[in-house]
Amino acid sequence: MSDISKTQLTIILQAGRLDKEILKKINDLSLQFNFSLYFTTSQNLRILDIDEENLETIKSELAAAGAEFKGPGKFPVSRICVGKPYCKLALVDTEELSNQISNKFGSRTGVKPKLKIALAACPASCSSALLTDIGVVATRSGLDVYAGGKGGPFPKAGRRIARRVDTDRMLVIIEQLADYHDNKTSIKQRMSKLIDEQDFPFLEAI
Ligand code: SF4
Repeated sequence: MSDISKTQLTIILQAGRLDKEILKKINDLSLQFNFSLYFTTSQNLRILDIDEENLETIKSELAAAGAEFKGPGKFPVSRICVGKPYCKLALVDTEELSNQISNKFGSRTGVKPKLKIALAACPASCSSALLTDIGVVATRSGLDVYAGGKGGPFPKAGRRIARRVDTDRMLVIIEQLADYHDNKTSIKQRMSKLIDEQDFPFLEAI
């Protein structure tokens, strides 16, 4: 059984991909330090059961292999479905879409907690894009963008705020939503609490 006095470390996986060099380093370190691994619902990799005294060694060795760690204020990495070319229903390459979002917003700092993004390559939405603060769903006519979805004990589907947009427009919308969330949030907040504010920048897209 896990000892809760031990500590944890979460490696960010861009587009759910685990780099082979990092994987190799994780394997070596797991044999040396006997920790366990858990893939989070945000598609990151959490190292569990780390002895506090070994944390900095593990962290620096993983950083040298190229690992990036989750931490306060970082812009969220998108949770994605597998997308093109791996699913026959996919309409877009979600890895590319996710990388475009990370390239544009990844250097932001001070992002308030609870903001999450999910991308789906078709309306089946296997990545639960409609249950996420910002959700992007590919359709045959372009990208639909949703805001205010959430899971948890009181789940709520997001409101569609844009239909059939291209990638450039999607990036502009995400920027507006992230700015709005930042301006309206003191500590932490789900987007679902903001979409009915009078100055929320988007109407429902019917
Ligand atoms: S959301 Fe659509 S494209 Fe993505 S994995 Fe599910 S079925 Fe495939």
